[in-house]
Amino acid sequence: MITKTGTDIECAAALLRNGETVSIPTETVYGLSANALNESAVLKIFEQKNRPAFDPLIVHIKCKDELEKYAIVENKRVWKLAEAFWPGPLSIVLPKKDVIPDLVTSGLETVALRIPNHPLTLNLLEKIDFPLAAPSANLFGSASPTCAEHVLDQLDGKVSYVLDGGETKLGLESTIVRFTSSGPEVLRLGGLTIEQLEDALGENINIIRSSSSNPEAPGMLSAHYNPGIPVIMGNINENRKKFGHKKIGALTFGADIQDENVASFELSSTQDLEEAARNLFKGLRYFRKKNVDIILADWLPEKGLGRAVNDRLRRAAVANYT
Ligand code: AMP
Ligand code: MG
Repeated sequence: MITKTGTDIECAAALLRNGETVSIPTETVYGLSANALNESAVLKIFEQKNRPAFDPLIVHIKCKDELEKYAIVENKRVWKLAEAFWPGPLSIVLPKKDVIPDLVTSGLETVALRIPNHPLTLNLLEKIDFPLAAPSANLFGSASPTCAEHVLDQLDGKVSYVLDGGETKLGLESTIVRFTSSGPEVLRLGGLTIEQLEDALGENINIIRSSSSNPEAPGMLSAHYNPGIPVIMGNINENRKKFGHKKIGALTFGADIQDENVASFELSSTQDLEEAARNLFKGLRYFRKKNVDIILADWLPEKGLGRAVNDRLRRAAVANYT
């Protein structure tokens, strides 16, 4: 398979109608998409990513009116969130309708749905008459792609087309929410903050801490976002002393590292959480190119997008010890 890259929406739509996969830009990260209603097309996503079948996919729809085609909406707060944040970085888990194949949801009775916020992809969704199942366009377990080049790094020769929509605005995956009898819960921290959700709903939200064995948050593995290099969390300058004999990469957030032997990547020199979120996956990939032995990073403030960045860093760090 020769992978083409470009901005040709007609071409992307034709390939999707044919049951091929297409990488799509969103405001969060790039997705590897296929017709969510076509099992053999969806199977290609799992194969191309090496994704285990127990990890369900998020389904991308074009407008709120489509929600009830694919899911049952009984809770009024679902509409409140959809009004407030769609299109945007919020996926909502709802009881699924039969039209969504079991393969998409890994056999669960629920489906995660969202409307992505990127002009090219919204345009593409208008041109096709099916929703798109799309996980992040990377090999399973590694960092999510935030530009077309990242997609090609891992999926060149597998995906049929990369719709190039430039660098993603947020750089982190969507926040995943569901409603239970005890209230709203976040299954995955992401591009929409807990503060934004709580403001919109006027109530507290429970954050479900994920782990490999937690059936509440399927697919949310504790080891993920693997940069292929050990990641050590904590005070960077302290840790530099411990690992001084190694070739060090420092993922910094305003920390001033004056050492020419250290390869630094600045998440945000002004300690801006949005900028840091946007740069996180780019940073993890940067160190691969620099051939460092170890990546040192410090925790961000546990608020706003800092929470979601810390979640990714925690799992990137676990990845090397399991
Ligand atoms: P990705 O699209 O790779 O960013 O990841 C999709 C993630 O969404 C999965 O790993 C699950 O953790 C979560 N997810 C998708 N569908 C469901 C569902 N029906 N119930 C709970 N979590 C889901
Ligand atoms: Mg992913």
